[in-house]
Amino acid sequence: MIPAMAAKGSTIADIFRQRCPRCRLGKIFARSVFLGFPKMHQRCPVCQLRFEREPGYFLGAMYISYGLALVIITSFAAALWATTGWWITKATVGAVILFLPLAPATTYFSRVLWIYLDQTFDPDRS
Ligand SMILES: [Zn+2]
Repeated sequence: MIPAMAAKGSTIADIFRQRCPRCRLGKIFARSVFLGFPKMHQRCPVCQLRFEREPGYFLGAMYISYGLALVIITSFAAALWATTGWWITKATVGAVILFLPLAPATTYFSRVLWIYLDQTFDPDRS
């Protein structure tokens, strides 16, 4: 058992803070994924949970990233279509352009979601 286990707070809040899914104290990234291209820690600085469990581990995060991107782009396209009256094709192209600055954050944030999902179903007990 890890001595520095935090009281389990809100999982949603810990996901958005990009905290380790096991101890909820250590940060997964050196700085927030919403602020550029952060470096990912190999292990949790507090409980030593290994974030990238095996080569190709983050392939699953790509599916999450794809789903997130789809939801964001669809929302942007719907908003553009409703407010500008553009054809849906033009609104979709505009939505993709609006989404581009969010792509790095979406990619890294999906890794956090993937780690939480994986640790929920197959926790690392080492
Ligand atoms: Zn930890």
